[in-house]
Amino acid sequence: MDFENLKGKIFYKNKFIPFKKAKIGVMNHSLHFSASVFEGIGVYNGKPLFNLDHLKRFLVSAKLIKLNCNYSLYQLENIILKLIRLNKLKNGYIRPILFRSSNSMSPDTTKCKSILAIASWEWPKLFNKKNGISLTLSKYPRLEKKIYPIEAKSSGSYQTSVISRIDANKKKFDDCLMLDQFKNIAETSACNIFWIKNDVVFTSKTHSILSGITRQSIIRICKKRRIKIKTGNFKLKNLLSSDYVFVTGTAAEIQVVRKIQKKKYSINSSIINILKKEYDNCKSLGIRSVYSIK
Ligand code: PMP
Repeated sequence: MDFENLKGKIFYKNKFIPFKKAKIGVMNHSLHFSASVFEGIGVYNGKPLFNLDHLKRFLVSAKLIKLNCNYSLYQLENIILKLIRLNKLKNGYIRPILFRSSNSMSPDTTKCKSILAIASWEWPKLFNKKNGISLTLSKYPRLEKKIYPIEAKSSGSYQTSVISRIDANKKKFDDCLMLDQFKNIAETSACNIFWIKNDVVFTSKTHSILSGITRQSIIRICKKRRIKIKTGNFKLKNLLSSDYVFVTGTAAEIQVVRKIQKKKYSINSSIINILKKEYDNCKSLGIRSVYSIK
């Protein structure tokens, strides 16, 4: 898929315009200095899922990266709803991105303006691997809050994930598993990770991961269904001795893991099936926020 050839309209520089006409220059500041913030929002049957949570995170990300967003939460929400209508989007993905103009070629951004674009496209699942995915360890530790504002979904935080994903694919694994600098489990290149041991669900704390909206929904679903869930700092040995593993993200949804390094896992878990069913329910309702999962 060539993302330069999307069909339909894009919201760009304050207007809905044909996608083909939305261009940025080679000397764009964000391209050179890797400073943009973005979101990925799933759309199911024409309804965006967890739209408010994604847009809130977008505004927090912008603040952390010191990009001015000239749109309020509800303005952004209305633009997205209009874009879905204009593009007759059924099942797909919305990508808001905020980046700087080309008025500087140094880290001095005083003359730069922020530009908002919101694109959409029809998109199937990211992995969609029924038999589970495989993970291998990344050689880079995941960034953490003291080094970088990891809470922001920003282009700058993806560099080591992209390199590690390339290395993983070269070794014929689907994705990489990243640890934090103290060798606690962090996340994969673009998903949060969970594992199950003796019917208890575990996941990493948020100091070194993107706090995924899907992750938040899974935590709420577990509470709703009275499934025990623990968040904390866990070592690789905890993960390797678990019964089941899965990763979560807007595009991947709930994706089972069949192998980490040489360790193989069963992919048939009744708990994962419950989580998937509840998540599908959220999709069909198109709920605006994980806070309505009770
Ligand atoms: N971690 C990273 C690094 C990601 O890129 C993503 C995808 N946005 C996630 C976790 C999952 O986040 P979400 O559930 O909000 O899509």
